[in-house]
Amino acid sequence: MAEQLGIGTTDLSKAQIINLGGYNGYSGKEIREDLPREKKILEVSYAVSEVDSCSACYANLVGALWRLREEGILEKLDVPIGIGQGMQGKTGRLGVGRCTKDFDVCIMGCPPDEEKIYQELKAYICK
Ligand code: SF4
Repeated sequence: MAEQLGIGTTDLSKAQIINLGGYNGYSGKEIREDLPREKKILEVSYAVSEVDSCSACYANLVGALWRLREEGILEKLDVPIGIGQGMQGKTGRLGVGRCTKDFDVCIMGCPPDEEKIYQELKAYICK
């Protein structure tokens, strides 16, 4: 319909595809599609202290945490990761997203993409 209106195309060879991050957002690959999304969230949620986070922010964090878990790195994390609008104005050791800008370490962005979260968390844990 958009193509017929002149505001889009169905020809993917002409498309510019931009990964906005999210649960399956790294390197264009699928991650462990054999597990339901809810189970993946449950398996990494113990590492997160969340208050009113936006879905994109939380999904990007879960994707990054899942990758770290698969690499055996997540278990070395010794501090909860703050995330969400409820963290604004609060302090802590480690946070994800602009809402945690007053934390000692903040992975900045609104939302930060999965790759950025993954890289910065990995560097934090492995330092
Ligand atoms: S950093 Fe942005 S996307 Fe993340 S919880 Fe705060 S307002 Fe939402």
